[in-house]
Amino acid sequence: MTLLEGRALAAAIRGEAAAEAAALPSPPVLAAVVATDDPATEWYVGSIAKAAAATGIELREERVVQEPDAVRQRLKELSAAGDVHAILCLTPLPAGLSLAEAAAHIAPAKDVDGASPTSLGRLAAGLDAFAPATAQAVVELLRHSETPLEGAHAVVVGRSIVVGKPLAMLLLAEQATVTICHTRTRDLPSETRRADVLVAAAGRAHLIGAEHVAPGAVVVDVGTNEAEDGSMVGDVDTAAVEPVAKAVTPVPGGVGPVTTAILLRNVVTAAGRR
Ligand code: NAP
Repeated sequence: MTLLEGRALAAAIRGEAAAEAAALPSPPVLAAVVATDDPATEWYVGSIAKAAAATGIELREERVVQEPDAVRQRLKELSAAGDVHAILCLTPLPAGLSLAEAAAHIAPAKDVDGASPTSLGRLAAGLDAFAPATAQAVVELLRHSETPLEGAHAVVVGRSIVVGKPLAMLLLAEQATVTICHTRTRDLPSETRRADVLVAAAGRAHLIGAEHVAPGAVVVDVGTNEAEDGSMVGDVDTAAVEPVAKAVTPVPGGVGPVTTAILLRNVVTAAGRR
């Protein structure tokens, strides 16, 4: 079995983005709106900040009080701000405000994580739009590993607007036949065993075992779950799946770094269009 590492691909994407950023008249500016003190979010923003600095992107952390109206207002202001090229709205959001509702206030041209209903609608319609970086990362990893997608059966476990649904649309655009599974799927193993390409994006540690995987399938693990010992584990039980699958992405070091790199590439693209 091959381990589909994401770090080298991420470095290559960041390298290209850095070269493009350097050719712009001024450094691209990404505003990250944070209305939480969740440590996982802090960690994620920190990792984006580090990668952004190395790519020649200025990250402005926009701390907002934990109230829905304050988040909406700041997103509107940043959408209108001439010196901000890209906006990322971090989760969790204050109670009563979904990401889709909040992101509706992000100007589509600055919506580098494809979170707004406009971006998602354009993606579904096959029009030019930023797709959510995680969904893009899955497709880039599959392309990079030369996994055939045309006519392949791709099964996605998870139907969130951040990963599952946009990923299904991207896979359709790659000419795959797509099945989306969720908590009401009657017989998950029988669905996932039909997959040439299986993507786990459920947020359940080690949900996917050997019984879920067809021999020779390529398995992409989007999940990031905290194990009892505090370490990060994916949705796939890699040790169990190893004898069956052709390839699996590791967690950490698979989809995660590629997601951040693609987000930054989208920031440079947004800045270049101005
Ligand atoms: P989410 O909003 O909680 O959605 C999870 C989806 O998985 C839901 O559609 C849910 O079904 C489905 N699901 C949950 N348990 C299931 C089960 N036992 N069987 C079948 N389906 C199940 O999560 P998300 O935001 O999409 O994130 C998913 C995972 O990816 C999380 O671990 C998250 O941390 C990770 N993630 C990673 C990255 C990255 O860059 N690496 C980025 C984003 C997210 P229902 O709709 O029926 O509830």
